[in-house]
Amino acid sequence: MYKISLITGDGIGPELSDSAVSVLETIHDKLDLKFDITKLSAGDKALAETGKALPDETVETIKSSDACMKAPVGESAADVIVVLRRMLDLYANIRPAKSYPHMPALRDDIDMVIVRENTEDLYTGKEFSLGDSSVALRIISEQASKRIAKYAFEAAKMRNDKKKVTCVHKSNVMRVTDGMFAKACTEVSKEYPDISFEQMYVDACAMNLIRQPQEFDVVVTTNLFGDILSDESSQVVGGLGMAPAANIGDNFALFEPVHGAAFDIAGKNIANPSSFLLSIKMMLDWLGTKNNDSKCIEVGAKLESTIFDLVKSGVKTKDIGGEKSTTEFTSKITDNL
Ligand code: ATP
Repeated sequence: MYKISLITGDGIGPELSDSAVSVLETIHDKLDLKFDITKLSAGDKALAETGKALPDETVETIKSSDACMKAPVGESAADVIVVLRRMLDLYANIRPAKSYPHMPALRDDIDMVIVRENTEDLYTGKEFSLGDSSVALRIISEQASKRIAKYAFEAAKMRNDKKKVTCVHKSNVMRVTDGMFAKACTEVSKEYPDISFEQMYVDACAMNLIRQPQEFDVVVTTNLFGDILSDESSQVVGGLGMAPAANIGDNFALFEPVHGAAFDIAGKNIANPSSFLLSIKMMLDWLGTKNNDSKCIEVGAKLESTIFDLVKSGVKTKDIGGEKSTTEFTSKITDNL
């Protein structure tokens, strides 16, 4: 039995959470992989109700669970996810982008993953006013840079036959901070002679993601650049509605969609739950690998193929050219699992 903590979130978060619970319960009942799910509050609603975007009970329950699923939260996102990433030392943010049949992708041969450093850079909240100027501290350490580089090379080792790591930075302008990141990645690359290594400035990477996305395998980058590039790479393979992410540390992991709370479509039953459901697939892979539980990996693969078989047969939500509502699409998945 795996204990799963679930932050239900804001905007489309509760709709996505209902879909995720329905799928996890179906797996529990039909596929005999057992879960104990605890719903938790965090985000704008929690802030309004309790005065805290990330209540203490939520943190305690997350810490006592085997893994956390987090639906998107709204304006208070930085007080929830950025804090959790640092508190639980979830240093690797993994965002895959792969083209699948019948998806509005730029090409049909894209298969890449962005490995984003998750604990440093401009996201540590060290911002202040200095007279009539505003200042933000950009922190890049050698230790965190080497740690994420190592994660990226290990990921490349286990992936397809491209076996390539692209280190993305802007060291020609930010010579000290990105200079350190590039140097750390280059040093780690020497431990992996079978994996090719290249460096690319972030502006060139943004262009190449559109021009030749099929050339990328593993992209390793800093926090802010990774945040921006992963929204772009999700769009390149068909949109945010299909984009999952994992925040991984040495002992714990948290899974969430790449996108935010999408208030413009909240409460309309039209959000695509696949981003969150594919995050469940990433969670099952992680739990399976960590606990040597092949059943988790099998069920994760089944969930992924169920989603993409439906898409292939034209059963889609509006964002990717279909007509199904969130609940209709979820029912199709639970029926087909
Ligand atoms: P954040 O900065 O928190 O990531 P954002 O302002 O970039 O948020 P998102 O919430 O990520 O905005 O979404 C951008 C747009 O993409 C939304 O307005 C919505 O129309 C669309 N979108 C996002 N997620 C989904 C989804 N699961 N299904 C359908 N459309 C979505």
